[in-house]
Amino acid sequence: ATPTAVMVASGIGASQGVLIKGGDALEKAHKVKVVVFDKTGTLTIGKPEVVSAVLFSEFLMEELCDMAIAVEASSEHPIAKAVVVYAKRQRQQFGSSAEQVFDVKDFEVHVGAGVSGKVGVRTVLVGNKRLMHSRSVPISGEVERYVSENEVLARTCVLVSIDGKIAGAFSVTDPVKPGAKRVISFLHTMGILSIMVTGDNRATATAIADEVGIDKVFAETDPLGKADKVKDLQMKGMVVAMVGDGINDSPALVAADVGMAIGAGTDVALEAADIVLVKSSLEDVITAIDLSRRTMSRIR
Ligand code: ADP
Ligand code: MG
Repeated sequence: ATPTAVMVASGIGASQGVLIKGGDALEKAHKVKVVVFDKTGTLTIGKPEVVSAVLFSEFLMEELCDMAIAVEASSEHPIAKAVVVYAKRQRQQFGSSAEQVFDVKDFEVHVGAGVSGKVGVRTVLVGNKRLMHSRSVPISGEVERYVSENEVLARTCVLVSIDGKIAGAFSVTDPVKPGAKRVISFLHTMGILSIMVTGDNRATATAIADEVGIDKVFAETDPLGKADKVKDLQMKGMVVAMVGDGINDSPALVAADVGMAIGAGTDVALEAADIVLVKSSLEDVITAIDLSRRTMSRIR
């Protein structure tokens, strides 16, 4: 496209809340054959909420909450925020102050799995089954059942282990964005496939994908794995757009022919992307592709 055409299109985009960082993305977007979506915060609202908590050992609910708050308070993950809010509310019901938080030592983030640390003398892990497996924490049949029952309901289970034993769990829900289903079916009418890549587990991911009409799901994928999926599709000759909001999406946003960041996403994602969807609305994935189609057809 001529510099003038790019400038005009960028201006139109900007007025509609679609920030296009360069001519390159604008020239490629009309050729997109597949859109790869992150799940949490992209297809879903990204404000997860805890809907229930259970105990699996002799620890009390109050202790479960204390341990979970101590470790999750240091995490930036939206799931962590949900756990902290819920656990603090629980503690207030037990009469303890919501403000008192135990210190955590040796805090560690396990990307795509959870967090861990020492709370007093106790070793606490908070995260998914993968985290528990990696630290050889046994998962009983009872825990397995709780996890799978919640996952088919599109919920994510946050397991808490204390000193190598599952003490309890929180069940987290994160509803899909109201427009998601419509956008994906509109992409279909444009001849564009939709794929989900997520760090979340297969059952939860599939439940969400079915709800919105996603064609294919890659679950339990770490940040570099997300980028690899994008590259696999490109190797098959497809022009790929990636839509994401998190630090964990940045390698994939960079790898994609057209990286689109959700405006409400983290700065790292906004920097990695070619296009920023300022209003954080998925409809603007279509606005961007459409703008490119119109710009390019005017030129040729
Ligand atoms: P997504 O790709 O869906 O944005 P992430 O890669 O950030 O997901 O995380 C994948 C999974 O790892 C989450 O669904 C959750 O099970 C677990 N997880 C990650 N961080 C945390 C945390 N701080 N607390 C609890 N669970 C976590
Ligand atoms: Mg995300």
